[in-house]
Amino acid sequence: MALLIHGGRIITPTEDFTGDIYAENETITRIEPHIDSKLVAPGAEVVDARGKYVFPGFIDPHVHIHLPFMGTYAADDYESASMAALVGGTTTLIEMICPGAGDQPIEAFELWRSKAQELAAVDYTFHMSVVRFEEHIRDQFREIVKAGVASFKVFLAYKGALNLSDEHLFAAMKFAKDLGVIVTAHCENADAIDALQKSLLAAGKTGPEWHGPSRPPIVEADGVHHLCTFAELLGTHVYIVHTSCADALRQALAARQRGVNVWVESVIPHFVLDETYVERGQFEGAKYVMSPPLRAKANQDVLWNGIKTRQISTIATDHAPFRFADQKKMGVDGFTRIPNGIPSIQERVGRWWMHARRRRLSCSGSTPARARSSSAATPISSSTIRAIAARFRRNAVTRTSITTRTRDGRDGGGPRSLR
Ligand SMILES: [Zn+2]
Repeated sequence: MALLIHGGRIITPTEDFTGDIYAENETITRIEPHIDSKLVAPGAEVVDARGKYVFPGFIDPHVHIHLPFMGTYAADDYESASMAALVGGTTTLIEMICPGAGDQPIEAFELWRSKAQELAAVDYTFHMSVVRFEEHIRDQFREIVKAGVASFKVFLAYKGALNLSDEHLFAAMKFAKDLGVIVTAHCENADAIDALQKSLLAAGKTGPEWHGPSRPPIVEADGVHHLCTFAELLGTHVYIVHTSCADALRQALAARQRGVNVWVESVIPHFVLDETYVERGQFEGAKYVMSPPLRAKANQDVLWNGIKTRQISTIATDHAPFRFADQKKMGVDGFTRIPNGIPSIQERVGRWWMHARRRRLSCSGSTPARARSSSAATPISSSTIRAIAARFRRNAVTRTSITTRTRDGRDGGGPRSLR
């Protein structure tokens, strides 16, 4: 099948220009100022992109789809999540594999992979969570890396459920360094949160509005500092997920200045929502419970500036949908039982763009763009979504994992096909 995308404003990591793109057999073969539609393969589909942006498909580097969490499961499966991603312009997902402490890592990897293989309408790969790290299971992680996974995920938060002891964290980070694997990390001090949660609940402070005070910015900053200390000792490359506030970003940048190989991710809810959402009455605030929590609005300026100055490398979603009626309400008597998560896999790019324009940021440089906004003013029908997904599935012959290169140029594990 041939495809000509005509007259769009093409944005690449380094360029911004108007032109035509021609693809044959799923490969872009020409990008030129003008390609004559009469001189391309007969039957080629021509898309008029004048007045519109043309981007490479977006990557969401942090999503949860199959997610057992706090006694329930996130509400998506790969079909619903990947179709939503496509509608929002995202064509590659990196999902967190989050097994329980009693599960075998290799079995978890196979389970997560099978869920994606059956239903995905986009490309995908995984971060492999390390929630235990005894000597006898280390070979399983070696095998998972051999299968194409280029990154681990560790939790400093969620005491007694997902967090690693310092002994295991240190050993896992050393192991990752030896394998050339990047360690992504949820950085919040688990013990401090546990103690704060207990004292708030004991004082009768049970509503969702107390979720934030149970994990203030300094708790996140402490987590970042702790992870970066180990990274400094070991030389491991680390990636801080969902950095939400000025205090945490400052710790990461201070570590970077000391020479630590640290990258920073922030997620779309923290750019566009603030703590006042969690304070909504009638338990409505539960919809906005995620961790790290939504922060005071002043932090948003810091995050947006972090993007502008490239201190922050990636904008993900941390997509994790839970139904309000029967899942979020599990925490109606105590905020610690509200499943953590906000869905945004479909809205990430549009939302980001809408707010970026307000802040006079462009997608490629410092000048605000004048082309028509791509934010979806017209709702897309479910039949159109299904058609897009079906076409994508048909065309997606191979699912390639993301190549991650460590800063010193070593291959971080990819690319290898996960299929
Ligand atoms: Zn997450």
